[in-house]
Amino acid sequence: MADTKFKRIGVLTSGGDAPGMNAAIRSVVRTAVQSGLEVVGVVGGYRGLVDDDMKVLYARDVSNIINRGGTMLFTDRCDEFKEESGLQKAIANCKKNSIDGLVCIGGDGTFRGAQDLTRRGIPCIGVPGTIDNDISATDYTIGYDTAMNTVVDLVDKLRDTCESHARCNVVEVMGRNAGYIAINTGLSTGAVGIAVEEFPFDADAIIDKMKRLKKAKKRNFIVIVSEAFGAEFSEGLAKRIGAETEIETKFARLAHVQRGGRPTLRDRELASLMGYKAVELLLEGKSNLVVCIRNEEICSTDIEYALCYDKLCKGKIKAEDIKGFTDEQVAKMVADAEIRRQRMYESYKIACEISI
Ligand code: ADP
Repeated sequence: MADTKFKRIGVLTSGGDAPGMNAAIRSVVRTAVQSGLEVVGVVGGYRGLVDDDMKVLYARDVSNIINRGGTMLFTDRCDEFKEESGLQKAIANCKKNSIDGLVCIGGDGTFRGAQDLTRRGIPCIGVPGTIDNDISATDYTIGYDTAMNTVVDLVDKLRDTCESHARCNVVEVMGRNAGYIAINTGLSTGAVGIAVEEFPFDADAIIDKMKRLKKAKKRNFIVIVSEAFGAEFSEGLAKRIGAETEIETKFARLAHVQRGGRPTLRDRELASLMGYKAVELLLEGKSNLVVCIRNEEICSTDIEYALCYDKLCKGKIKAEDIKGFTDEQVAKMVADAEIRRQRMYESYKIACEISI
């Protein structure tokens, strides 16, 4: 790795937790130590920066965490940090603790914080840790694979008992801002219906299909609904399906069980590679970047660009958001967003087409 003026870096986990965050912390600490740096673990995300809650981490302090869910550094949502006064406290504490750079593991809110710090002289690199896979600049986020495997495991169990009793189970899964968990677990559990915000959901068509399949002697029915619709919709859908198909229908909200548990191989691998890359980027003198994986390659994207592209993908873009970008950059964002949407749609369409 490159020579650097850096002597000490910090690492924090912020926002919603995700399995694999520990593996990312471990990778950051070990990579930095290997490169002759000291590492400070910031406790509770940006809250720890504001309150000066930090501890030096040596290589052995991150032993036995690669296999554990949650985050050993804990996480928090810190509104005070969003205010200028809180941000100034955070910066003063970075200086007090001689933090030359920071790796911030979390979602888009975390990256906004990293951007604020970088602009005020604390170089930051973001690492995407969120089960929802809702950071559009990267193909995968840390925690997504584990969360999906948890869903698949639980839905398989529901399916067993649905088959025994000839029942339907409507299952609400996480993904407030993105339907990735719902689509890919729906595809992988053979769901008869998948409801996500991104694509139109036709409840009548699902109910007709279920009636037809019931006549054909199908006994188990799984319908996956993204939490983005809210409790009223998903619970109401279960009642409606039960009433109109005359198939006994249960409702299950998997909720926070999706956030915990041992990270899968895929998440440990991703976290380890991304943690390494984050330290490498800092040592190269780079900042304000988010580490990504695209087409199986670990790479990075400017945070500003990543956040803008993310808004575009989620249909939340406003004219002022694209002011700082060239026409070519905007055209590339639009083209990439369409490819991403198409890929998502393809999985959704196939899931629907083969659940006959
Ligand atoms: P996530 O990182 O998972 O998206 P949040 O949106 O809750 O989770 O953000 C995590 C933390 O990042 C917040 O509690 C806050 O401290 C910081 N943060 C969020 N949004 C901003 C923002 N617009 N500017 C500065 N910091 C932010």
